[in-house]
Amino acid sequence: MPEPTPRAADAGPRLAQRTLANAIDCTGIGLHSGQRVHMTLSPAPANTGIVFRRTDSGIGIPARYDHVRDTTLSTVIGLSDAPEARVGTIEHVMAALAAAGIDNAIVGVDGPEVPAMDGSAAPFSFLIDCAGHRTLDAPLSVIEVLRPVRARDGEATAALLPANPRGAAFLTLSMDIRFESAAIGRQERTLALTGPAFAAEIAPARTFGFAEELQRLRAAGLARGGSLANAIAVSGDRVLNPGGLRFADEFVRHKLLDAVGDLALAGLPIRGRFIGSRSGHRLNNTLLRTMLADPSCYRIVSAAARPAARPAAVPAERMAAPGMAAAAA
Ligand SMILES: [Zn+2]
Repeated sequence: MPEPTPRAADAGPRLAQRTLANAIDCTGIGLHSGQRVHMTLSPAPANTGIVFRRTDSGIGIPARYDHVRDTTLSTVIGLSDAPEARVGTIEHVMAALAAAGIDNAIVGVDGPEVPAMDGSAAPFSFLIDCAGHRTLDAPLSVIEVLRPVRARDGEATAALLPANPRGAAFLTLSMDIRFESAAIGRQERTLALTGPAFAAEIAPARTFGFAEELQRLRAAGLARGGSLANAIAVSGDRVLNPGGLRFADEFVRHKLLDAVGDLALAGLPIRGRFIGSRSGHRLNNTLLRTMLADPSCYRIVSAAARPAARPAAVPAERMAAPGMAAAAA
């Protein structure tokens, strides 16, 4: 019997761009809009990146940090504030694509939002797995973090640091969260972002919300499609979902999932370490904008290039508050 071919994620960082082997689609309800949306994931040529296409208006929106228009409870991208030129709740499918190493794809949606499915990334990871991937004849570039970049929003902090030079993952992420509710409490977790680790540890973790806030959110036009079928609902110190949690620390796993999706908006894989403390969509976006506004903090190199030597002296850290570097967010 021949030895099985090792999967790319097991064999070390991949060096060429990839896309989907086939198109695949699904239908579901938007978490915030409550609208039924049909979504198709389609292959795309090298150097396309991930592009969301509103099939109802024909408008294409590159999934990039500088197209983020809103970060209230989800990440919304758009070419303008016109509703037909925006797509919301992109972070879970972005995370699934990034973790699977899909660099180029068209995500078509016929409504304002990606379907919530079960509130996690697992249905998207399943679809991407079913579609399969194809390696393209084009080298992969990565964004290598050269010096620490930090952002803060009240008690929430986020940082990108140079990578530890070894390992199969480009990006390692750590997150901690603290909530008064005993259902959550304090949780922390680290992920070396490879396809298998994401699929097993992170993709099934669902989004969550507090029942006490639901009325306020609905009055603000949010969470209209939210239900126990697509979110964990916490009330006081209790989880209301009859089936309970998928992991004891499902909440911090979901925050890691969100961070993977938000950082994928850099447009290329990041070679570095992310450390978040209570960080969410807004701060994740501020962090990306801060780093990418300062060419001394990063470089774009071939994935085959050896990581830059770490500077001997600790460099000055970049600090930014949301709003400073995120005027368009
Ligand atoms: Zn989320």
